[in-house]
Amino acid sequence: MRSRRPVPTSGTGMSQTAPQSYDVVIAGGGIVGAACALACAQKGFRVALVERELFGSGATAAGMGHIVVMDDSEAQFALTRRSQQLWQTLCPTLPSTAEYETPGTIWVAADDEELAEAERKQFWFAEREVPSRLVSGLELTALDPNLRPDLAGGLLVTEDAVVYPPTVALYLARQAQSLGATLLVGHSIMNLCDGEATLDDGTRLRAPKLVNALGADAASCTPGLPVKKRKGHLAITDRYPGFVRHQLVELGYLKSAHSVTADSVAFNVQPRRTGQILIGSSRQYGNEDSAVDQAMLASILQRATLYLPALASLNVLRVWTGFRAATPDKLPLIGPFPGDSTLWLATGHEGLGITTSLATAELLAAHFTGTQPAIPPEPYLPARFAPAPTPVTILQEKL
Ligand SMILES: Cc1cc2nc3c(=O)[nH]c(=O)nc-3n(C[C@H](O)[C@H](O)[C@H](O)COP(=O)(O)OP(=O)(O)OC[C@H]3O[C@@H](n4cnc5c(N)ncnc54)[C@H](O)[C@@H]3O)c2cc1C
Repeated sequence: MRSRRPVPTSGTGMSQTAPQSYDVVIAGGGIVGAACALACAQKGFRVALVERELFGSGATAAGMGHIVVMDDSEAQFALTRRSQQLWQTLCPTLPSTAEYETPGTIWVAADDEELAEAERKQFWFAEREVPSRLVSGLELTALDPNLRPDLAGGLLVTEDAVVYPPTVALYLARQAQSLGATLLVGHSIMNLCDGEATLDDGTRLRAPKLVNALGADAASCTPGLPVKKRKGHLAITDRYPGFVRHQLVELGYLKSAHSVTADSVAFNVQPRRTGQILIGSSRQYGNEDSAVDQAMLASILQRATLYLPALASLNVLRVWTGFRAATPDKLPLIGPFPGDSTLWLATGHEGLGITTSLATAELLAAHFTGTQPAIPPEPYLPARFAPAPTPVTILQEKL
């Protein structure tokens, strides 16, 4: 991993601009950067949060907003579960526009093999005190009557929630501002290293702690970061209140979300407070074109109607794409960047960054204050991807 990006050397007038000083400068005003800004401001740090477009306009606006506890690994579980608990604490303070609801997730099993997976998952959650229960095929259709009747059953995880992420990002940024944070919107960060952030208008922000929270664009300011863009599509329907009652996800989703190379589509549908239905989702590597891919969209809708046949008669209003920030081991990068003692990372959250934003911010603030975090920080440290030192071979000279 390298830490530098070439600084423009002429025509910027940067050298004439007096730098502004902060304790922490955070690059990127998505939900992760905004949550970090609030957590740092709550600890008394003087914070600047810089966003080139609008708060919550990147992957945060494109995401589904499913606050979901996951069991892919102990580290993923710890981060998602801790974050879910932080969401539960935050929830009463959120504005109604955050649309926070707790419909729960039903992991839908299409056959006996997937039902066995639901049972394994239920046992795993029970051991870790996550409320969940198995449901039969019959009960499944009672819980969500538009599901096709021949499904094997599923697992209901009751504390999983949904939220409208962009309004939460804005809310968190504004809360940080109310504690003294400076919000800089409409500015691109051109350079972020050695205790200084340089903006596109030449403004220089100095801080002993810089945070790269640029999501899928993280490598643009920190070249060599192991963060790749993973494209996703979502569609939203007109209002059909009650058509879907829980976040419905096929258990086959685990197989497709786990593939780190192939394109994949899985049934993942969410009821919105407005009565609309959010339909996902796809995962693609190596496609950085944000245009909607009609073939991919058709696959998503086909997959969804396989589980919810009546969906075929509903109107889809809008379709969009977004980019997840994927790392090779499917865990985010949270902590100090090896090679620049001023640089910290809060990126690489792939398809779970809405869920894990709050625990990420909590971990980062614990790093900064030197306090014991609620969960072990080690699995997320960026140093895990630092190149191993090259072994030195000592050649004995022949005399
Ligand atoms: C289709 C899809 C569905 C998803 N569904 C879910 C879900 O259900 N649940 C879940 O938990 N997660 C979900 N995610 C993942 C989630 O959306 C992301 O992990 C999360 O939004 C990442 O937030 P972030 O703040 O790291 O990145 P972003 O929201 O992308 O924020 C980064 C910000 O940095 C800004 N920026 C970039 N470059 C610069 C620069 N040079 N200078 C200044 N600013 C810059 C961008 O404008 C952007 O606002 C989904 C993602 C997609 C694409």
